[in-house]
Amino acid sequence: MDAAHEAMIRVLESIRNQADSVLKKIEHACAITEQRSLAWRCAACGYTKHFTRPVSMRVAALCPKCNGERFDPLVNYVQLAKGKDDR
Ligand SMILES: [Zn+2]
Repeated sequence: MDAAHEAMIRVLESIRNQADSVLKKIEHACAITEQRSLAWRCAACGYTKHFTRPVSMRVAALCPKCNGERFDPLVNYVQLAKGKDDR
């Protein structure tokens, strides 16, 4: 391999490493700011969507009853469900 090829490879590796670093920073920032919940309640009609694992509001998407776009997380849902089972 000649010197020009080696220089090109080093430049491309540098670009890849910088892109990986920025992607990791963005993913980390999203993980911090994006709240996840097992249940989301529609802010408009109160319909609650349940999930088997914690998801973000983006996953809850539109309310099937009123097409509302805003959901509030039910943060105590796990504790509430446990309390119900104990009775
Ligand atoms: Zn709704």
